[in-house]
Amino acid sequence: MSVGFIVFFCLCGLITGIAGSNKGRSGFLWFLVGFVLGPLGIVLALVAKKDNQTLESKALALGTQKKCPFCAELIKSEAIICKHCNKEQPENNASAQVENNQKTLLNAIADNNIEGIKNILDTAQDISYTDFSIPPLEYAELHGNDEVITLIKKVFNK
Ligand SMILES: [Zn+2]
Repeated sequence: MSVGFIVFFCLCGLITGIAGSNKGRSGFLWFLVGFVLGPLGIVLALVAKKDNQTLESKALALGTQKKCPFCAELIKSEAIICKHCNKEQPENNASAQVENNQKTLLNAIADNNIEGIKNILDTAQDISYTDFSIPPLEYAELHGNDEVITLIKKVFNK
């Protein structure tokens, strides 16, 4: 068997593997199909059915797509209006709200505004320490107000 022959079948395997994994199927298995069957493997991979469930969960895991809460169709994660049912997406509002709370909290820390900090932490229960662009405790220590530092430490159990 000549080297060119082997390279050709490896290449077929590679193309078949990529085509297969683009359809949400096992890239390795499709590589084998392409390697054994050559060009025929590529054709098989191209006509193979898409594994929509795997593709959907991949897109969801990557965060490139989200599920519309009204019609359960997949749409782009940046979408404000669902292209399937034309309903406005609530997630965007929710994440904007969380971002807003974080900003307000950091501002209150910068202003040494104890009441303001308590207020935000009381109203925004789901505020999570790990979500911040700047960790609140580091930010408080940067501004050096002991009362604020103690409060943040206590609230986030740091
Ligand atoms: Zn929808």
